[in-house]
Amino acid sequence: MEGVDEAALSGYINEHHANRMLAEIRRLTERGIWKFPYDRFICVRMPEEGVFLINTSRLTGVNGLDGRSVSDATVRGRRESFELLELMRKHFPGFRHAKLRCIAALPGIRETRRIDGKFTMTVRDLREGTRFADTIGFCCYGWDLPDPNRPSYQPMTEQKIAIRNDLIPLPFRIMQPQKIANLLCPGRAVSVERDVLGPVRVMASCMAMGEAAGTAAARPELSVEALREALRGRGCIVDVPAGH
Ligand SMILES: Cc1cc2nc3c(=O)[nH]c(=O)nc-3n(C[C@H](O)[C@H](O)[C@H](O)COP(=O)(O)OP(=O)(O)OC[C@H]3O[C@@H](n4cnc5c(N)ncnc54)[C@H](O)[C@@H]3O)c2cc1C
Repeated sequence: MEGVDEAALSGYINEHHANRMLAEIRRLTERGIWKFPYDRFICVRMPEEGVFLINTSRLTGVNGLDGRSVSDATVRGRRESFELLELMRKHFPGFRHAKLRCIAALPGIRETRRIDGKFTMTVRDLREGTRFADTIGFCCYGWDLPDPNRPSYQPMTEQKIAIRNDLIPLPFRIMQPQKIANLLCPGRAVSVERDVLGPVRVMASCMAMGEAAGTAAARPELSVEALREALRGRGCIVDVPAGH
């Protein structure tokens, strides 16, 4: 959105400790005005003054494997964006004169299928800080995978389940399907327990996995250790840095 009055927005947030507008949304919900399944407002300031990314809406009941369902979500998401826009203009400080600049062409989908890999990384691995000899990168992110029906609820965070290390190793085998040769699946298709996808699915770890998968695909003769060495040679982080 553009034309956001930043002074009004940040002034209000600071004065009322209104991070994510939780109390405001609660009041709007009680009055029957806020009908969305999520209850927090997320906006990110873009480099240009008065321009914000509104990363707020969460669609439930979408099957990312079904074209019809994704089309339906696209229409629903657009409709909902305009509803949210009206509410923001009326009720959120700083947005009275804001305008919609653009909406994503397609809805982002957090998860669909994952492969059955040569190794499946589990919640237990994260809790115990398991190290892997075939590490090709790391992720450094916490649990972040909402309950599909309650999109503001993060089960693992709410249950205060601890991740042992702030660097979570990414083993090469989670990208290798058990039964299909000549295929590597980096990104959110990797072989992990569902909750493990929370930290692993983010962009930085997808980039690390993509780099490793691309290198391995180009040089299939490499052993895993030689692959790690090739990645090291290009500045990839494949070893736990000193002090961790
Ligand atoms: C709403 C939302 C917010 C997020 N916010 C963040 C965030 O703030 N920070 C963060 O780090 N991560 C965030 N993520 C997570 C992250 O963006 C994704 O998990 C990550 O991009 C997944 O990468 P990927 O390569 O596995 O899949 P994708 O990025 O989805 O890439 C798959 C690509 O394959 C293409 N494709 C599909 N089918 C075909 C085909 N048949 N032929 C050719 N191409 C095809 C698609 O068009 C797409 O470009 C967010 C995700 C969502 C949904």
